[in-house]
Amino acid sequence: MTLTNIAPTAELQALDAAHHMHPFTANGALGKKGARIITRAQGVRLTDSNGEELIDGMAGLWCVNIGYGRSELAEAAARQMRELPYYNTFFQTSHVPALQLAAKLAELAPGDLNHVFFAGSGSEANDTNLRMVRQYWALKGQPERRVVISRRNGYHGSTMGGGSLGGMAAMHAQGGLPIPGIVHIDQPYWYGEGGDMTPEAFGLARARQLEEKILELGPETVAAFIAEPVQGAGGVIIPPESYWPEIQRIVEKYGILLIADEVITGFGRLGEWFGSQAYGIRPHIMTIAKGLSSGYQPIGGSIVCDEVAHVIGQDEFNHGYTYSGHPVAAAVALENLRILQEERIIERVREKTAPYLAQAWAALGDHPLVGEAVSRGMMASLALTPDKATRAQFAAESGTAGYICREYSFGNNLVMRHVGDRMIIAPPLVITPTDIDELIARARKTLDQTHAHLQAEGMLKAAA
Ligand SMILES: *Cc1c(COP(=O)(O)O)cnc(C)c1O
Repeated sequence: MTLTNIAPTAELQALDAAHHMHPFTANGALGKKGARIITRAQGVRLTDSNGEELIDGMAGLWCVNIGYGRSELAEAAARQMRELPYYNTFFQTSHVPALQLAAKLAELAPGDLNHVFFAGSGSEANDTNLRMVRQYWALKGQPERRVVISRRNGYHGSTMGGGSLGGMAAMHAQGGLPIPGIVHIDQPYWYGEGGDMTPEAFGLARARQLEEKILELGPETVAAFIAEPVQGAGGVIIPPESYWPEIQRIVEKYGILLIADEVITGFGRLGEWFGSQAYGIRPHIMTIAKGLSSGYQPIGGSIVCDEVAHVIGQDEFNHGYTYSGHPVAAAVALENLRILQEERIIERVREKTAPYLAQAWAALGDHPLVGEAVSRGMMASLALTPDKATRAQFAAESGTAGYICREYSFGNNLVMRHVGDRMIIAPPLVITPTDIDELIARARKTLDQTHAHLQAEGMLKAAA
């Protein structure tokens, strides 16, 4: 059987429904409806099998930072495949792409984050982190320091370790998660959970839950705290400015390790190379993936500080992946980093396109359906609400309005995602002001259609 991108859509959809199990999807329902088949992409635009062109407001899954269609990356992959398609780094060997990429990441990462352990994805890298921080404390003679504190509604991947570190209730409801030794505190989500507090007071209160949890568990049992600088999959939740300085103070006071999960915020999304720099955080380990290769190849890793790498190096670390530092993925990542740097893409985000997006996106806050419209760098979200004044939730189950909105958005050829009743975007970093205007126009039309729909169905009712 030969299939090309020009086979009829219905035929492709039928094969997809028959054989392909999609992640995070009710596959039965999707099979009946039919998946939208994406066939090509260029810049910030996707083309589907019907020839429709979409603006990709999500950069794939938060990863295509340099945009689609950069043939330099294809050439880097082809060159590397011809020269050395694969070799491992387990048994006292190395290869040029992996060592060059590690050195490049050490140069780009702040402070003394000078060492890289490679993985195939963000989830794998967080599994590495979980084992690495425990092994670190064991080698330091404090093996009882095993607990990792994380946050509800955080996202750290979908493996057993990653899904457990994450705080997604729907994931924990399936398959026996979280595994032992991981505990969660509340997220700094002021709009949804801040009540009458000011954002600043709320940010401090949520950060101080870390201190309370450390004291409750006993500081001598806590290995690390892990968090995303800005929560992505949780709904693009931007913490109050008071949050991170207080977290940093607490982490230092109790001498626990700080893991910044930079899988989304790394490689320019917040207008700095890393989100930790945008927030003045000083992590001991950073998780990376996604934008590391702009999604052109699957690769992730952990960037580790001198102290932790030195201690880990004192013994054999019984951990690694067949594809740790895969030469083709590493070569593609290096080319991606070269483009990000030489074309000054991150500077352009910081100085030009992020401020432009911030203004245009904030204007959506005037819409009757929107409770807040916020952004940081190239991440933005808005909360749908039946009552702007009170930040009310809908009477309908969370996610009902968001799903309706997402469907209209998709129909308007804008990829915008919903998380519950929050709508989120994270476009490629190369998006231009003209593209942003078009994205906003489609988003506004989508909001109008959603508003009319909810009104017609009598769904603009607040939860009691
Ligand atoms: C996507 C994501 C991960 C998981 O990465 P995968 O490559 O999907 O395994 C981990 N952490 C954060 C913050 C993410 O957004």
